[in-house]
Amino acid sequence: MTAKGKTVLAKLKKASEFELALVETMMLNDKGADPESIPDPPPPYIMVVNNDGWLDLGEIMVDRVGKVDQCEALVFHELCHARVEINKEGIASYKMRDHDFTGFFTEVARYGAWLPHYQMTEAAFKGEVPPEDDE
Ligand SMILES: [Zn+2]
Repeated sequence: MTAKGKTVLAKLKKASEFELALVETMMLNDKGADPESIPDPPPPYIMVVNNDGWLDLGEIMVDRVGKVDQCEALVFHELCHARVEINKEGIASYKMRDHDFTGFFTEVARYGAWLPHYQMTEAAFKGEVPPEDDE
């Protein structure tokens, strides 16, 4: 799985009605699954994972955290693309969310964190940005 010449490890997308029905059928046919554990309706997202990339992931050491499972980090990243908004009537709407930051390595190498979102990114790499609250 590649996009723009780069390997894509995983992708979260909103599922079509057909994909949701397929997943629900697969879950119901899973002999070990507890039917009570299947949300109704299921969240309308599907995560596609690059099997080769997944198998290459392992553990890495992160200074302030310790050993980190990259598979868990990948799943967390993809789930960050999901945004669930609950309205005043308690009805959920499911949306997709883009990355918090984007830029160019050469730009940052030359000018540093000159944009506010670069400064937030720099702070996040140092663990200085609090995790988002459940909204
Ligand atoms: Zn992403």
